[in-house]
Amino acid sequence: MTRVGVLALQGDVGEHVSMLESLGCEVVKVRTVEDLNSVEGLVLPGGESTTIAYLLTTSGLKDVLGAKISQGLPVFGTCAGLILLSSEVLDGRSDQWSYGALSLSVRRNGYGRQIASFESPLEVKDVGTVPGVFIRAPRIETYSDDVEVLATLDHGDGLGEHPVFVRQHQVWGASFHPELTGDARLHQLFLNSL
Ligand code: GLN
Repeated sequence: MTRVGVLALQGDVGEHVSMLESLGCEVVKVRTVEDLNSVEGLVLPGGESTTIAYLLTTSGLKDVLGAKISQGLPVFGTCAGLILLSSEVLDGRSDQWSYGALSLSVRRNGYGRQIASFESPLEVKDVGTVPGVFIRAPRIETYSDDVEVLATLDHGDGLGEHPVFVRQHQVWGASFHPELTGDARLHQLFLNSL
C-alpha cells in the first residue's frame, strides 16, 4: 500500500486525507520529522501560507523537508501549498520564504480576496475536464521552461491565460483545491508518479 503524507500543520488537511484514503493509500498526517521520514510522497494543503511557513520553521520540519524535496521526494502543493513550493512570492509578507522547488512566481490572492473566490471547469492535459475551486488563490505570473503547464485559466479579467496546474519533475502545484471536489483524478495523477 502506498504510504503518503499530508502536511498537517494548518489548512484543509482532512479533505486531502479523505481523498487519498478513498484512492486506497495509507495516509500519514505529517507533523514531525519522523512522520516525514515514513512517507513516499507529500501533499502540502491549502490554508494560509504564512502560517504554514511559520509552523514549518517552529516544528523543525522546514530544512528537512527542503532537503528531501531537493533529493527527489514527490510533493503536491495546492493553493497555499503551491505558494510554499514556488521560487518567488509576490504580495507576500516581507519575511515570507518559499522552497523554490517550482521555478515560478506566484501572486498571493492574485484573483482577488475571499469574496472573489470562484469555481471554473479546467481542461487538464491527459485528464480531461476537472472542477476548479479557487479560494483566495495564488496567480502564477511567470514561470521558466522547466515548468510543464498542465492546465491554464483565463479568468476573464483582461489579464489573459495563466497556468493553474503545473509540474516540474516530481513537484506538482495547483492554484486551486482539487481536494474540495468529488473528483480525485489529480490526486491519482500524483500517486501514479510515486
Ligand atoms: N491566500 C492564501 C495564502 O496566501 C492561500 C489561500 C488558500 O490556500 N486557499 O496563503
